[in-house]
Formats: sequence, C-alpha cells, structure tokens
Amino acid sequence: MVSIKSDRELKSMRKAGVAVAQILDEMCQMVKPGITTWDLDRYAESRCKELNVAPAFKGYHGFPATVCISVNDEVVHGIPSRKKVLNEGDIVGLDFGVSFEGWFGDSARTVPVGNVSAEAKKLIEVTKEGLYRGIEQCREGNRVFDIGHAVQNYVEQFGYGVVREFVGHGIGRALHEDPQVPNYGAKGKGLLLKVGMVLAIEPMINIGGAAVKVLADGWTAVTVDRSLSAHFEHTVAITPSGPEILTVL
Ligand code: MG
Ligand code: MG
Repeated sequence: MVSIKSDRELKSMRKAGVAVAQILDEMCQMVKPGITTWDLDRYAESRCKELNVAPAFKGYHGFPATVCISVNDEVVHGIPSRKKVLNEGDIVGLDFGVSFEGWFGDSARTVPVGNVSAEAKKLIEVTKEGLYRGIEQCREGNRVFDIGHAVQNYVEQFGYGVVREFVGHGIGRALHEDPQVPNYGAKGKGLLLKVGMVLAIEPMINIGGAAVKVLADGWTAVTVDRSLSAHFEHTVAITPSGPEILTVL
C-alpha cells in the first residue's frame, strides 16, 4: 500500500523536512579535519531537542546513533564513534532523518573534508546530479523505475557503480514505507506515480564496482573493492506542478 498525503499532511512533512535541512546544513559546516563523527552525531541530537523534532534513526532496528555517518569506502549506515576522526582528503556522507508530529523527513549529503582529490570531487558532483535527475522524474503519470533509470543512465556514463542492495523508499508516518525506489531499472516499469505520494530518493554511487558488503558491526556497508562511495538523498513530494523537495530550507 502506497499512502497518499493530503495538503495538510504535507504541511507537517515540510516542517520535518526543514528541520532535517537545517541540521544537515549545520553539520556540513562543522565538517573539518580533526572533528570526530561522534561530535557530529552529538550536535545533531542536541539540535533535534532545540527544534522539537525527534531523531528518526536512533533505535530504528537498533541503530545506536542519530546520524548515519559513512566515510570514504563506507556506503551507508556508518556508526558515529569517538574514535573516528575525519582527516583532510576524506569524503563523509551524512544521512539524517527526524520526525515532527509523527511525520518523517530523510535526507543525505556527501561532503569533502578539507581538500579532496579531483576524483572524489567528481564522484560527489555526479552523485548529487544523479539525485536531481531522479527527482525530476517524480511526476504524476511516470513510473517508479523511471526514477532509477534516470539516476543509472546519468551516473553509469562516468563508469561508476550503482549500489543495488540499498534503495530509496516511500516516507510519511513511517521512515520507510512502500514503494521501494531502486536507483536502477528500466524506463516505464513499476508502480504508477500519483500526486500526494512522497518518496525518499537516495542514490548510493561507487567510483568502482557496485558490490557492497556489511561489516561485522552489523550496520556499516562498504564497497567490496574499497573504492570511494557517495550518497545524496532528498524527501520529495509529487505535486500537481511536479516534484517538490521537502528537505530544503
Ligand atoms: Mg536517509
Ligand atoms: Mg532514506
């Protein structure tokens, strides 16, 4: 079942989305060599309290932190740690969600730590553009695989791998709702998109192969070939006038 949100419900989802964007902006500004992923996580949680929103990930299937922070070859679901210091040249993915009055918002960005290599910069730019190519397909009358097709078609021309094991998702009263939104697939296939659906679009793109594996901590997904990976995500409503990104200021 794919839920359809009313205008009033979208209003609450916009508030959740704005809080996500605000806190993500602030975290991105804190990213510098020497900061730990733990510092970023603690900051996000304190800001949730100040903005009267609830962290969406903490305790979700037992996830132990507020933000998923994934560095370099880590793809998604990295666990913040006091021991994990960000170094010049790293790239760091910050994946963060909240709920407001029971409505969820979910967004992710990958940012450079200080100066990074040209190849890392390009991966970040291409993954971000891949997200926007996907978002552009969030229109009534399109189908769910049109989104993944647009992402895949764009990023694969650079030789990058599109992660298959993790996908985007519907979002609303729950962090993860139907449908699944893969970042690959054939144009014109899958669920028909309708006004009022809200989808979290989230390409995870590797410089090398698409294969990923989960580390012994049970959470952190890394690239099998240890190549760099980037992740961008927005929560997007399908409106009569096209896609509306909810996780923006
Ligand atoms: Mg997310
Ligand atoms: Mg998500």
